Amino acid sequence: MTTDLDIARAATLRPITDIAARAGIPADALYAYGPHKAKIGYDFINGCAGRPDGKLVLVTGISPTAAGEGKTTTTVGLADALSAAGKRVMICLREPSLGPSFGMKGGATGGGYAQVVPMEDINLHFTGDFHAITSANNLLAAMIDNHLYWGNSLGIDTRRVTWRRALDMNDRALRSIINSIGGGANGAPREDGFDITVASEVMAVFCLARDLDDLQARLGRMVVATRRDGSAVTAADLKADGAMAVLLREAFQPNLVQTLEGTPALVHGGPFANIAHGCNSVMATRLGLKLADVVVTEAGFGADLGAEKFIDIKCRSAGLAPGCAVIVATVRALKMHGGVAKGALGTENVAAVQRGMANLARHIENMRKFGIPVVVGLNRFTSDTEAEFAAVRDATAALGVRTVLCTHWADGGAGAAELAQVVTEALGEGAQAKPLYPADLPLAEKIRTIARDIYRARDIDIAPAAAKRLSQFEAAGHAGLPVCIAKTQYSFSADPTAMGAPEGHVLPVREVRLSAGAGFVVAICGEIMTMPGLPKVPAAETIRLDAEGNIQGLF
Ligand code: ADP
Ligand code: MG
Repeated sequence: MTTDLDIARAATLRPITDIAARAGIPADALYAYGPHKAKIGYDFINGCAGRPDGKLVLVTGISPTAAGEGKTTTTVGLADALSAAGKRVMICLREPSLGPSFGMKGGATGGGYAQVVPMEDINLHFTGDFHAITSANNLLAAMIDNHLYWGNSLGIDTRRVTWRRALDMNDRALRSIINSIGGGANGAPREDGFDITVASEVMAVFCLARDLDDLQARLGRMVVATRRDGSAVTAADLKADGAMAVLLREAFQPNLVQTLEGTPALVHGGPFANIAHGCNSVMATRLGLKLADVVVTEAGFGADLGAEKFIDIKCRSAGLAPGCAVIVATVRALKMHGGVAKGALGTENVAAVQRGMANLARHIENMRKFGIPVVVGLNRFTSDTEAEFAAVRDATAALGVRTVLCTHWADGGAGAAELAQVVTEALGEGAQAKPLYPADLPLAEKIRTIARDIYRARDIDIAPAAAKRLSQFEAAGHAGLPVCIAKTQYSFSADPTAMGAPEGHVLPVREVRLSAGAGFVVAICGEIMTMPGLPKVPAAETIRLDAEGNIQGLF
């Protein structure tokens, strides 16, 4: 079987200077990391400020299943097809986290003949951005414990230090730890823990900051601990913001790479899509819009989480507005939403597709609430049948939405030519997405609005302690922030097994957290893992170098 890695490795990559030239970026604006990766310098980025913006296309999806949907693959295929149709195109994607590569197989750079390359680099150390973010996070952690060690003049309540350490690795042993053990010279022991780097607030800040000044200001606003009187201690109080911004200065410049067909792609930043907003950096998206007629970008998870956060958090804060949404669906995933087990997905089952359509239909209705046209990109798998496609086409036609069958995974950009055509028509409508709720709605009402309008919950159930915290956030001047819901991606409800289109449920809000630097309030609705573990047999066991020094077994 030909793997994604085989295809990526067989490709002939163009020099990154050629890709840059195609995007209108001069060679002297590039900071090259070898022949196929480059960062783009601040002088060039700042020089683009006065240019008009291109149009933004958001690729999102139905509620994810174990069958896979292919949002990244479709983002790449669509962009390659738009390029082939003569448009100036830029892709904007998240950088993958390194840790999960050694757990389960599967990269995050697309698949088949619709990939961004060099895929091994992008999935591993890439240009070191996540290492820089990890360092910035841990510098702050070190400065907190150092402050406690030298007398704690800020009056931090040592039991209420909320800042955690970070590592870009799946390592459950570090989820909860006691630090500073071993005697008084090492400080006073306290409970601590590690999050995977992508779950750190530094990552969310990195992805939402508009420029270096904004980056430093947001880092300074991050809350790290509480005093005995309940007041917040920030990174700026510890005077850590400047040094953290210095550590991030180089990483904060977007990374340019290419697709297998030579379309330019900015791959930059990668926050979690549950406790953070789940999309690439504002720096990359805003630069892309200055360079291209059309920017194609992806939001994590299904449209209920990813697209909602993309519009209500990222676009609101950065002044962006997509003109069209592509909802990616597969026949296999629709069958799973229709009740078919993973092992039976290879058999034709039109009735199950029709039942599973409830999930897609709900996402279509939801995306329309943001005021933009919707196109369904049906990502073809080899086991799909014509009758199953027809079931999807008929059901979406009844909703007034076009479904386009795409074969970019097998055929590259040519397989998404019709999708490119339909997306271009949709962009021609000139719509601009609007947020779901106004910034001045009380925080609890924002959560309720998302729960009712997007998840179709009957209501929310906020734990008393969480309700009190929301009032405290409002009193402390954070009432205008958007909310970031952390819940399972597998269902519209908080129950991961409730597939399809559940309604009338109650969304439990167990806990709320302030991400004052990122600029949102996180509402935790269910078990959310911020440090993953490795499976019993991790992929790492079969990854090695061959005699020529090539990587084997990764993806
Ligand atoms: P998402 O972005 O929605 O998580 P990806 O685009 O990363 O999904 O795809 C997930 C996996 O599914 C990748 O390994 C990719 O190669 C595979 N995949 C995507 N589309 C197809 C397809 N049409 N046929 C077979 N495999 C596919
Ligand atoms: Mg993806």
